[in-house]
Amino acid sequence: MSEKIRINSPNVQYTEKFIESRYSYQTTSVSQDGDKYTVTPHNTEVIFRTERHVPKLGVMLVGWGGNNGSTVTAAVLANKLGLTWKTKTGVKGANYYGSLLESSTVSLGSGPKGEIFVPFRELLPMVHPNDIVFDGWDISSMDLGCAMERAQVLDWSLQEMLRPHMSQLKPRPSIYIPDFIAANQEHRADNVLTGTKAEQMEQIRRDIRDFKEKSGVDKVIVLWTANTERFSDVVTGVNDTAQNLLATIQNGGEVSPSTLFAVASILEGCAYINGSPQNTFVPGVVEMAVQQGVFIGGDDFKSGQTKLKSVLVDFLVSAGIKPTSIVSYNHLGNNDGMNLSAPQQFRSKEISKSNVVDDMVESNPVLYKPGEKPDHCVVIKYVPYVGDSKRAMDEYTSEIMMGGTNTIALHNTCEDSLLASPIILDLVILTELCQRITFRTQQDSSFQSFHSVLSLLSFLCKAPLVPPKAPVVNAFFRQRACIENVMRACLGLPPQNHMQLEYKMQ
Ligand code: NAD
Repeated sequence: MSEKIRINSPNVQYTEKFIESRYSYQTTSVSQDGDKYTVTPHNTEVIFRTERHVPKLGVMLVGWGGNNGSTVTAAVLANKLGLTWKTKTGVKGANYYGSLLESSTVSLGSGPKGEIFVPFRELLPMVHPNDIVFDGWDISSMDLGCAMERAQVLDWSLQEMLRPHMSQLKPRPSIYIPDFIAANQEHRADNVLTGTKAEQMEQIRRDIRDFKEKSGVDKVIVLWTANTERFSDVVTGVNDTAQNLLATIQNGGEVSPSTLFAVASILEGCAYINGSPQNTFVPGVVEMAVQQGVFIGGDDFKSGQTKLKSVLVDFLVSAGIKPTSIVSYNHLGNNDGMNLSAPQQFRSKEISKSNVVDDMVESNPVLYKPGEKPDHCVVIKYVPYVGDSKRAMDEYTSEIMMGGTNTIALHNTCEDSLLASPIILDLVILTELCQRITFRTQQDSSFQSFHSVLSLLSFLCKAPLVPPKAPVVNAFFRQRACIENVMRACLGLPPQNHMQLEYKMQ
C-alpha cells in the first residue's frame, strides 16, 4: 500500500487489509434547571477500520449530457491527459480547483519548520478522480462531444482537444415523465425508454449491471445531475414505505423518474446521490436504503450562492451580529435556468435554498427569540445571454451594536458547472471512502457502517439529508470540520482543536 501518511501510535495498526484505530470519542451531555446548566463529559472508546484497497470506481450520471455531466466528464479527461490550452489571457492547465478533497489542505501538525499541511485526499486511501470511469443516461441523445459544445462552458481550444474522446461517449436512453420537469425541456427528449414504470426501472438496473460488466469497475455510484423535478406528493400507501413504493412502481402510480433511479440503484446495491433539489428521497426510498444497507445522499449541490450564504451567516451569527434580512437574487441562462423558469421546478429550488440559515439562527438565543428568523427571499430569473455564468446578487442586512445596521451587498459570477463539477467528484469519492469505513464501540459485537443516509456529505449539499432525528448542519466550517475530524478519527488522531497551546506558553 502506498499511503503517504503513516501514524506513529500504539493506537493505530496497519494490517494488509485495514487501517485500524482505537479512538476516544468525547462528547458532553447537558441538563438544564432554569438558567443553570450541568455539563457532563463522556468518553466512548471506538475502533475505526478503513479498508486500504482502493477499488476502481464507476460513476453513472443521470443527466450525463447536461452542462454538469459533460463538464465533469471533460474535466476528468483533461486532467487525465494532462492537457494545457491557450486562451487570450495565456496558457491554462487542467486542474481540480474547487474540490475539497483534491485542492484543499488539512494540517497534520507541527514539523521542524512549522505547521505541515497536506491535501485532504492524502489523509486516507481514496479514489483519484482521474481513475473514475463515467457512464450515464440522458433524455437527450446528443453525444458528449456535442453536449460539451452545447453547454458553452469550456474554452474552444480545449473542446477541440477533447472532442475525439468525448464524442465516443453516448448517454443511455432514460426515463422521461414530462409532468416532472418543465414543459420547455420537451424538445430535448429524443432518447427515452418506453414501457411501464416497472419495466423502465428494470432497464436502469440492467444498465447498471451492463456498465459494471463491460467497464470492469469494482463498484458503481449513481448520481442525479439531471433537471430539477417538481416535488412529489408524499402520500400514505403510495410512497411512505419501501413496500408501498415498490407496489406503486408495479401498478404505475405516481413516482418521479429520480425516485425510480434511486430505487433501481438501491436494489443494485449502488449508492445514490441527488444533486438537485427535488424530494427524490420520499420515506419509502429512505426505508429501502436502510433495509438494503446502501448509502443515499443529497440534496442539491452547494456550489455558489448558497455556499457563500452558509459561510457568511456562519460568520455573522458566530461573531454575535444579527442578520435580519437576506435577499438573494439570481439570473442564469443555461438549460437549468430555463427549466427553473417554470413555477413548480422553481419552487423545488426555493425550498432547497430557504432553510440554509436555520441551524445558525437557532444556535444563538442571544440574538434570536424562539421561532424568530431573518426575512429570507430567493428570486431566480432566466436570462439566456449569460449562459452558464450565473449571476448571484445578495443583500445581507444585520443589526449591530446599539441599534446600528450593517448591510453587505455581494455580486457573485458563479460559472455554475465549473463550480458543480468538483463537487460531483467530492461527493462520489467521499461516498466511496465511507463504504470502506466501519466502526464499533467496546459494547458492539460487530462493526457497523455509517447510517444509510450519509450526512457526512452535508458540506457539499444545499439541503443536507440527515438520518431521522439527526440535526441538520448547514454551517460551512462545522460541516468541513466534521469530515476532517471523522477522517482523523480513522487515523486515531484527536479532533483538530486549533488551540496551539504550544505557542502560547512563556
Ligand atoms: P442541464 O439542464 O444542463 O443538464 C441536465 C440534463 O438532464 C440535460 O441534459 C437533460 O436533457 C437531462 N435530463 C432531464 N431529465 C432527465 C431524466 N429524467 N433522465 C436523464 N436525463 C435527464 O443542467 P445542469 O446545469 O447540468 O444542472 C443539473 C442539475 O444540477 C439541475 O437540477 C440543477 O438545478 C442542479 N444543480 C446545479 C448546480 C450548479 O452549480 N451547476 C448547483 C446545484 C444544483
